[in-house]
Amino acid sequence: MKYDYTPDAFDVRHLWHPYTSATHPLPTYKVVRAQGCTLTLDNGARLTDGMSSWWCAVHGYNHPVLNRAVEEQLSRMSHVMFGGITHDPAIELGRLLLGIVPPSMQRIFYADSGSVAVEVAMKMAVQYQYAKGSTRKSNFVTIRRGYHGDTWNAMSVCDPVTGMHSLFGSSLPVRHFVPSPESRFDGEWIPEDIRPLRDVVERHHDELAALILEPIVQGAGGMWFYHPQYLREAAALCRSHDMLLIFDEIATGFGRTGRLFAWEHAGVEPDIMCIGKALTGGYMTFSAVLTTDHVAETISDTYPGAFMHGPTFMGNPLACAVGRASVQLLLTSGWQENVRRMERQLATELAEARHLPQVADVRILGAIGVVETVDEVDMAWIQRRFVEEGVWVRPFGRLVYIMPPFIITAEELHRLTRAVVKVVGEMPVPSGRK
Ligand code: PMP
Repeated sequence: MKYDYTPDAFDVRHLWHPYTSATHPLPTYKVVRAQGCTLTLDNGARLTDGMSSWWCAVHGYNHPVLNRAVEEQLSRMSHVMFGGITHDPAIELGRLLLGIVPPSMQRIFYADSGSVAVEVAMKMAVQYQYAKGSTRKSNFVTIRRGYHGDTWNAMSVCDPVTGMHSLFGSSLPVRHFVPSPESRFDGEWIPEDIRPLRDVVERHHDELAALILEPIVQGAGGMWFYHPQYLREAAALCRSHDMLLIFDEIATGFGRTGRLFAWEHAGVEPDIMCIGKALTGGYMTFSAVLTTDHVAETISDTYPGAFMHGPTFMGNPLACAVGRASVQLLLTSGWQENVRRMERQLATELAEARHLPQVADVRILGAIGVVETVDEVDMAWIQRRFVEEGVWVRPFGRLVYIMPPFIITAEELHRLTRAVVKVVGEMPVPSGRK
């Protein structure tokens, strides 16, 4: 199919899209409808969705159960402030969440987006150390290849290269970075992997409030899956040096890695945990920061006696209502069998890509399939090719990856994997490979 498309002049002239030029933007494709696993474009083309709108739409689009939850809540109230007020959607979502997160997570702070959740988690760690009298413990250590969002503090703990630290220069807080673990999730544990973190923690613990990382799966910073032993050893280092452990499960949460949350692969509970994205099934922006009684009580029992954060849309009832419906739907949807089925199919069908000269690595975990290429992809070309193949896949850098909605059929998933293998195989062959 030749994609016949005239870019919308207003969009090109006035609307800024993420990570592209405002003056010479990459092409955009106009979606007029999203249903199940299919995005329909304005020219009638139907694309099988491989992205779940960046990890969110685990139940697919336009789901009747989620629509109903929004409509019912809308008819009562769409928003009311959370300062001095509470409501059932917030309480009921909270109840559901406490049943599925690590048992030590007992306090919930609702926030507006993933990045804001990371800001909140980092503030919480600093305020905790302050409350304990450790006022010097206000910095953070993290691992390279991480991604935690685009706001200021979130950006400061993103991979310094892909997170563009050099661009923002001295205005960005300076954090401690250690290499991301080399030990693959499905490989042998390499004991030296923990050494750089141990060195930094031993040298700088008196200024470190917390270690923050994405457990098991590093998402937008590199789509890397690492060994659970790293988390066990990292947690032990934090405990013995009075540092908190923050897990950013914004991408990994709600079944994506084959467990409800990625901490389960290692059995390590954090002190603070961020969730977002699939929390509302992709219906609206929302997130939550969870922590222990100990952290909450330490903060609350010391001056100023409150955690100093309170966004306008905190605990938004519409978001809570659709979040509650989405979590309930997930828990009753047979997600685990779906993800297992997807994992098997991804492993079988993407294995073919391993033999392509353009490919450096193929890795699969849960409902995530990654084909790492040798050279960077040509974004405009590859995006157009995927659309021509009838799929929505949005690579970045050297990563062509898919994480489709869990409701995808075997046939739809096959369309995605076939397109990935085919289109990557059409990329220029890197020099020195045949
Ligand atoms: N943390 C992780 C691990 C993420 O993948 C993302 C989003 N890609 C964020 C934080 C930021 O979330 P948001 O885009 O909702 O601010």
